[in-house]
Amino acid sequence: MAAVAQLRPPEHVTPHDLVTYSRCPYEMELLRTRHASIVTGQTVVARTPLDVVPLRHSPLFTHPNLGVIVNDGRLDVAPDDRLVYEDQGEGDLPILFAEEQIRADARYRPPNDTLVDPTIGLSGRPDFVIQRRNGEYVPVEYKSTHLFVGYHESHGRTFDVIQSIAECRLVHAAFGHRPSHGIILYGDVAGDGEHEGWVQIPYGDAEERWLRAAITQIRSDDTRAPVPAERNCVSCAPNKNGRCRYAAARYGDGHPASPGWGPLRA
Ligand code: SF4
Repeated sequence: MAAVAQLRPPEHVTPHDLVTYSRCPYEMELLRTRHASIVTGQTVVARTPLDVVPLRHSPLFTHPNLGVIVNDGRLDVAPDDRLVYEDQGEGDLPILFAEEQIRADARYRPPNDTLVDPTIGLSGRPDFVIQRRNGEYVPVEYKSTHLFVGYHESHGRTFDVIQSIAECRLVHAAFGHRPSHGIILYGDVAGDGEHEGWVQIPYGDAEERWLRAAITQIRSDDTRAPVPAERNCVSCAPNKNGRCRYAAARYGDGHPASPGWGPLRA
């Protein structure tokens, strides 16, 4: 049995897993088991014990958060910048580049457009990857629904930092150059650009160490406990689908009264 366990490939992790785990490990577990059930056609049961004790905070340690640069206004790209990657699965991305600036890397076109770091078992798709004039590669993640007002006050933006750090690592693995930073671009469709802005997230040794340790922690967490907190639960998809009996608040989209409060369904 021990030999079998050693041969098992490391659990696959995505930037979205990291973000979700940082909010509520149980939410991540429920999302992953649901996806695995759909893919395999078999019921995959969550590893979280039925007698789990909910946590007050996520067990994930805080990521480095120094050197973030906040910019009001539009993200302007230089004439010499090139768009080398775009997530074709996203339908609402803004047009940042002129036609002649688009140089999509042939290695990462659909259906091979998921960027993978096999060394740490991380994969995902940034919205864009830009190649700057100096050769540097920069991942850009677009958030269409997050207005740029109150950036510093919003605890939710910490999730965006985590996503950007993970995307920097993916770009490093895929393109062979370590980015010095990633970008989160906040659009404002409803406000006609009035509250647009973008944030530059540093990526260096400290961020990469944090990422590696975070992935190790996720893989080794055999509990994946719930973190019932209104700020987490109101937008939690498993809560919306009635799959969490620990929810501290109803899902924010007119959740019906009964399903979520039944027995745990993994
Ligand atoms: S409803 Fe709350 S406690 Fe339950 S999985 Fe979602 S975020 Fe976690």
